[in-house]
Amino acid sequence: MILIDGKKIALELREELKEEVSKLKLKYNKVPGLTVILIGEDPPSQIYVRNKEKSANEVGLKSEVIRYPDSVEEKTVLDKIDELNKDESVSGILVQLPLPKHIDKQKVIETILPSKDVDGFHPMNVGNLSSGYESSVPCTPLGCYLLIKKIEPNLNGKKAVVVGRSNLNGKPMTQLLLKENCTVTITHSKTKDLKGECLKGDIIVAAVGIPELVKGDWVKKDAIVIDVGINKTDKGIVGDIAFDEVSKIAKALTPVPGGVGPMTIACLLKNTIECFKRSQK
Ligand code: NAD
Repeated sequence: MILIDGKKIALELREELKEEVSKLKLKYNKVPGLTVILIGEDPPSQIYVRNKEKSANEVGLKSEVIRYPDSVEEKTVLDKIDELNKDESVSGILVQLPLPKHIDKQKVIETILPSKDVDGFHPMNVGNLSSGYESSVPCTPLGCYLLIKKIEPNLNGKKAVVVGRSNLNGKPMTQLLLKENCTVTITHSKTKDLKGECLKGDIIVAAVGIPELVKGDWVKKDAIVIDVGINKTDKGIVGDIAFDEVSKIAKALTPVPGGVGPMTIACLLKNTIECFKRSQK
């Protein structure tokens, strides 16, 4: 079984991106800029944003974090986004989710210019992805996609099963696999025979949030299995895949932690660089 080392692959990607940023700097005499807006004190968000800032600096991006208290007014945030939209030194804008209840998440997402939407959540980018046009792609499914392609560069005609249909993970993952000519089944909490569906998959991507939902006898021999789940349990952090069982059946499997997670931030940096390059055209 191939243990898909997301940490190592993400590091390689970050090295490539670092080189690309150096070349862009020579060519344009400036570097891509990422601005993150962080609202409130949510501890996981604080950690994510710190990691994003650190990684952005490491690859040579110009990075900035704008912090607001929980009590900030929606208008203040929207005005700031407007200002960043107009700022040529800002290539990508990310508003860290979740947001306090009084701030309308969709309004915030739609205020970010689609060309600076490094999370790929703007309806324009969602539409472009599903139409097969150039777009920013949400970072976690993009990371999953790159991991799958490392194992199997040609996905033509493969049967893929995506477990979970969130806008963040399952739906964009489905679009990426469709683009690669996979036959994709998207499953969710109301799916009748989840085990039966999973058993058909040459590729399984699970993004659910239920510890070890996908068992060993749900997986076809030699499937490629990608575990997006991050679940806190008594035995520590586990994914949505029953790792010990599935590792005996699958051809390749991501661990949790150390699989998809590290790819997410690397893909955020990649998206920022792509936004910069498109803005220079
Ligand atoms: P979500 O709650 O938005 O969506 C979960 C999906 O799972 C829903 O579509 C739901 O229909 C489906 N589902 C729920 N119960 C099910 C069941 N019994 N059988 C089949 N499907 C079921 O979650 P999300 O934001 O997509 O996140 C999913 C998981 O991925 C979480 O554990 C989250 O922490 C993790 N995550 C990891 C990363 C990363 O970088 N690795 C990034 C984002 C999210």
